[in-house]
Amino acid sequence: MTAKSAAAAARATVYGYPRQGPDRELKKAVEGYWKGRVSAEALRRTAAGLREANWRRLADAGLHEVPTGDFSYYDHVLDTSVMVGAVPERHRAAVEADALDGYFAMARGTRDVAPLEMTKWFDTNYHYLVPELGPETVFSADSAKQRAELTEALALGLTARPVLVGPVTYLLLAKPAPGVADGFRPLSLLERLLPVYAEVLADLRAAGAEWVQLDEPALVQDRTPRELEAAARAYAELGGLTDRPKLLVASYFDRLGDALPVLAKAPVDGLAVDFTEAAAANLDALAAAGGLPGKRLVAGVVNGRNIWINDLEKSLSRLGTLLGLADRVDVAASCSLLHVPLDARAERDIDPEVLRWLAFARQKTDEVVTLAKGLARGTGAIAGELSANRADLASRASSSLTHDPAVRSRAAAVTAADTRRAQPYAERAAAQQEHLGLPLLPTTTIGSFPQTAELRGARAALRAGRIDTAGYEERIRTEIRDVLAFQEQAGIDVLVHGEPERNDMVQYFAEQLTGYLATQHGWVQSYGTRCVRPPILAGDISRAEPMTVRWTTYAQSLTERPVKGMLTGPVTMLAWSFVRDDQPLGDTARQVALALRDEVRDLEAAGTSVIQVDEPALRETLPLRAEGRDAYLAWATEAFRLSTGGVRAATQIHTHMCYAEFGDIVQAIDDLDADVISLEAARSHMQVAHELAAHGYPRGAGPGVYDIHSPRVPGVEEATALLRKGLEAIPAERLWVNPDCGLKTRGWPETRASLENLVAAARTVRREL
Ligand code: GLN
Ligand code: ZN
Repeated sequence: MTAKSAAAAARATVYGYPRQGPDRELKKAVEGYWKGRVSAEALRRTAAGLREANWRRLADAGLHEVPTGDFSYYDHVLDTSVMVGAVPERHRAAVEADALDGYFAMARGTRDVAPLEMTKWFDTNYHYLVPELGPETVFSADSAKQRAELTEALALGLTARPVLVGPVTYLLLAKPAPGVADGFRPLSLLERLLPVYAEVLADLRAAGAEWVQLDEPALVQDRTPRELEAAARAYAELGGLTDRPKLLVASYFDRLGDALPVLAKAPVDGLAVDFTEAAAANLDALAAAGGLPGKRLVAGVVNGRNIWINDLEKSLSRLGTLLGLADRVDVAASCSLLHVPLDARAERDIDPEVLRWLAFARQKTDEVVTLAKGLARGTGAIAGELSANRADLASRASSSLTHDPAVRSRAAAVTAADTRRAQPYAERAAAQQEHLGLPLLPTTTIGSFPQTAELRGARAALRAGRIDTAGYEERIRTEIRDVLAFQEQAGIDVLVHGEPERNDMVQYFAEQLTGYLATQHGWVQSYGTRCVRPPILAGDISRAEPMTVRWTTYAQSLTERPVKGMLTGPVTMLAWSFVRDDQPLGDTARQVALALRDEVRDLEAAGTSVIQVDEPALRETLPLRAEGRDAYLAWATEAFRLSTGGVRAATQIHTHMCYAEFGDIVQAIDDLDADVISLEAARSHMQVAHELAAHGYPRGAGPGVYDIHSPRVPGVEEATALLRKGLEAIPAERLWVNPDCGLKTRGWPETRASLENLVAAARTVRREL
């Protein structure tokens, strides 16, 4: 086919759409079902109504082919486990008794049975349920959900394409089931799994699918030759089936690298490839692989995971380059629109001048349609859209929000000295010891104390105008007094104010920093029915006034013991927000770091001697491929040091990270140059303490001795044993005693008992020194 006919055939599609509905109807229906207030039938009706509304909206927008099967009551990877019959032994009875209740039991657990583990979907903030597989796993096909949704869409008269998690990615995302030997590789089950996919594909074809999409995002990560060979085998086998629909293999989130030629050669009918900035290398690689002669190429040129408008002209030129490389070129968002909110037009509080820069799922769909039209019929057919887009882009580029000269010149003037403490650790440690006079094995907490329903209620009452600011702040001060009184009485050494005033550790700061936007309806699914509204880091960042100082100094005024100031670090501020795409992430991080640096200094000037800057997201934003990691860690750790580097030797800087796996960032943890780091360790029996020791980590460390993820109260004996284990790795002069993470999700009774036990354990072990 010629480039011209490839262009004329251009169609618009997407791989998935937000599931929750404009008013989070799905969340409400599912949670209502859990509480017994919504019947299974009513839940099904709500879900079907949401699917239909989405498809109609997509079709009305001009999309040629709508996705099906991307809908989920909880998680699409869990749906895939159901589709292939990979139900863990412990959930089987529940699933057999009632498929829907069994499904939710796998997702959430029951009183007696643990749920599947949950983890991040690549480097997004969506979490999936990890399949548990073992040598005994027997797969069996259950295509009912996929078939039903396809049938619904076809009944509306739409062209529909079922979207499935591909078999290779499914296995690569899985983990060995509990009790299965560690060396077991789920990918070794591929031969067993493929016949199940073959059956599902045949079922979907029989149900009317012309095309089926198989998502293989795991192929954009660094893969071994053996894994690539498995991918080649998988698609040789599925492609070789006679009774099958046309196969579209999709990848996204990064470049395909060595997997690209593997997929290009596979006997499938099309590839969907990410051609956004982050994956731009796919373009040359595809050309180098000889293109996709005779095949369909779906080009993901509209970024499916950020919230910014597309540069339509740039995308059109990229699409033009692709035209010569395939038989047919279609236009899509780079990944499922699941990762962005539904509709920017629902936002009433965002300045219209800024709103025009934003594209949520609905606007991205329009962009995809416009680009397909431009590709098929020439730019003349979309002249109006192009000129509006040019104006919107120009508005963003020239706005004083995105270009604040004061912020820019300050960021440009940062020197290497600004990103270092003036004294080496040994000198600081001595000055801090002299100033703080802490005992060996000092006890502390990570920051938050229980966020009770009553506290959240006070915040809701403030928003609704039922109480005034003065009333709300008095409520917060009362809470701080209670938290302080408890800590003093429990005998904790370094106290915290408890963070009662914070709705969320990122949002609280985002609301106070210039350059950040909040949305009213910008919900995205984090996991299951949990949705978050990430703030939008839209412009140059500056701090109008101190953000935390009055609460910390109020707490300090109540006690002789040191109160630790508490801030969220620059990397975490970026990781849990929508970030700007018009400058390198490192530049944005530096601006946030400078605002935090001022806060750190203000805290110090107000008499705060211990300041914690949390970076729980440091590891989770690690680039998917190893090649990007050094550069990322360099700017990430530098931003942290810039935010904390401006204090005196006697001021002690803490940091905190959750999650148990640190092996690959232990050098980065060292590079933060914090005086003390607290980490999650209780469940892994202090493993991180040993990893830090093996690395030669020279500074203070508090591997958690209290697992805050469950209401269980650790006994004194247990905490004592963990501490002794910690001492095997870290000398008493540098070992801290603390829980794994903040206590905001815990109740007061278990918090009290656990912290009292933690202090008792510290006292016991001190006596042994
Ligand atoms: N300081 C925060 C808290 O205690 C840290 C939370 C986190 O690490 N996720 O809640
Ligand atoms: Zn934490």
